[in-house]
Amino acid sequence: MSSQPDGEYELPEDRLEESQPQCPFGVGGGCCRICYMGPCRVTDGAHGMDRGVCGATPGTVAARNLYREIAAGAASHADHAREIVEVLEEIADGGLSAYDIQDPEKLEEIAADLGIEAETDDENELAKLVAEAAVEDFQGAGETLNWLDRMPDEQREFLREQGIQPKPSVDMEVARAMHRTTQGNDADPAHLLTGALEAGMADGYAGLTMGTDLQDVVFGRPQPVETEANLGTLEADQVNIAVHGHSPVLSEMIVEMADELEPAAREVGAEGINLVGICCTGNELAERRGIPLAAHSTQAELAVTTGALDAMVADIQCIWPGIGDVIECHHTKLLTTTDYVRIPGAEHVSFDPETAEADAREIVQRGIAAYEDRNSRQEYDVEIPEERTSALVGISEDYVLEVLEAASPEDPVAPVVDALAAGQLKGIVGIVGCPNPKQRTADMTERLIEGLLEENVLPIVTGCIGHVTAQAGYLDPARTDELAGDGLAEVLHALGDAAGLDGPLPPVWHMGSCVDNSRIGNLVRAISEGADVPTRELPVAASAPELIAEKAVSIGTWALTLGLPVHTAPTLHMDQSEEVSRIMTEDLKEITGGYAIQEEDPDAAIDALVAAVDERRLALFDETGA
Ligand code: SF4
Ligand code: SF4
Repeated sequence: MSSQPDGEYELPEDRLEESQPQCPFGVGGGCCRICYMGPCRVTDGAHGMDRGVCGATPGTVAARNLYREIAAGAASHADHAREIVEVLEEIADGGLSAYDIQDPEKLEEIAADLGIEAETDDENELAKLVAEAAVEDFQGAGETLNWLDRMPDEQREFLREQGIQPKPSVDMEVARAMHRTTQGNDADPAHLLTGALEAGMADGYAGLTMGTDLQDVVFGRPQPVETEANLGTLEADQVNIAVHGHSPVLSEMIVEMADELEPAAREVGAEGINLVGICCTGNELAERRGIPLAAHSTQAELAVTTGALDAMVADIQCIWPGIGDVIECHHTKLLTTTDYVRIPGAEHVSFDPETAEADAREIVQRGIAAYEDRNSRQEYDVEIPEERTSALVGISEDYVLEVLEAASPEDPVAPVVDALAAGQLKGIVGIVGCPNPKQRTADMTERLIEGLLEENVLPIVTGCIGHVTAQAGYLDPARTDELAGDGLAEVLHALGDAAGLDGPLPPVWHMGSCVDNSRIGNLVRAISEGADVPTRELPVAASAPELIAEKAVSIGTWALTLGLPVHTAPTLHMDQSEEVSRIMTEDLKEITGGYAIQEEDPDAAIDALVAAVDERRLALFDETGA
């Protein structure tokens, strides 16, 4: 989809083409650049060195590289969580006027899970204790992370018995990863990868789960809400402001200010202010506010090329520097807002939760000014694509559990267990991550999801894959019968009835942003504990079918520690080492129960994922076939 004549802009797919051929040592994890005797290009294959200058094997190099990717992902999610921890601390101290606790029940549920009790009924007292427990997970106290209490007990104990347990601080976990992987330090591939598993667990709990938990406390738990997707959600006659990145802290305030400043927009001739979402900030606002999902991260530049976008407001993560180039030809204001994130070509509005209202007001005013600029330009084209699709988003784990409880009050997980036993449902696959231009041309995500649905496997999506599925119309309940296999369609109709809807649940469940992968973890935990089946035996898998970010590698590693099969395409950076490839795809089964699946072909990926969940389903129910 292009909104301007071909060739006028350099977009991600053009730059990917220019990058070809990509270095096989980089792609296969055999490139080491961590000291100045290198770079060394090592491999178990025929062409290249079998040792680095220091003597490092391909296994050492690939394991160190993977561990560093996972540590970078854990650092990203933990830093994301840190923002909302600080907001909750300040709310509890009475120091923030713009925010309060929207979901006190969620606060109580988290406190109960962490074993925290307040001496009084004062909500702020409990918030303070929960925030203190979160801060401890950055500073380090006790045996391990407090937030590890949010992990299924059985799997946690299974790993602990094998000596796999994160350190008491996520920051320490990241620092240790960087230290262990320096030149001349830890060189044992299996030992390094054990450390990588611990970093993945730290990400899953002191990053993803902590972030989502506390965002729900402050902004409320998502509930199903109808919205629309695609660039067609931009409006030519309105001030179009897109929020981009990952955090709801500023963007929730922009929703308020866009409302307040609607009259100001009308004064300059606009019909209103149209707030839309890009990437995971978009998912956060869509699942709580129904704000349209305009574009995924890979389409952010394309959004600017419409000529209709007046301001793009960026917070943290997945904001590609290429946007800085494309805005040069447009009136669009790219506004960075986090003091440690700057992009050439952007204007910076420093955001601080203490001055949230004033900061958000300033940002919306700059959007209105950019709209005036757009209208004053001669021969300036606005071309908005027509495509817009309907989507039901905000199918949080809590909503799913409510629906299951309505369907079966005595035993809420029974509808899932019964559907699996009957083969109506073959399994569940969490499909996560970003849209990679390498896989986009093959419609990898769409083909994978359609194949899984046909096979009665339920896809649950998060992140920018949520945008891809929304754009493809897979989040629309009107398409359940068309897309889902007969058995799965029956399950979705039964759950729709239990939920009091007029029809079925959608064929693909949108569970939010990338940190909301924790919601999939919570659902897996509830099924595991309700059915008394270890997570490593459940017919549940994960897939990042268009893997881009180090963050996705660490999320996948966390899923491996839950004992899940984890598919990625492109393949992980490990092909140059037979040892690391074997550990990740085979040996891990004995350690966590999980294992990596490496398939870049959509049909092969469908077959592998269906086989992975069905093998577990048949083992659970002792069947010979469904
Ligand atoms: S060997 Fe490493 S540094 Fe050199 S081109 Fe390949 S990936 Fe890049
Ligand atoms: S640490 Fe070893 S393998 Fe890596 S760049 Fe230095 S000499 Fe080469």
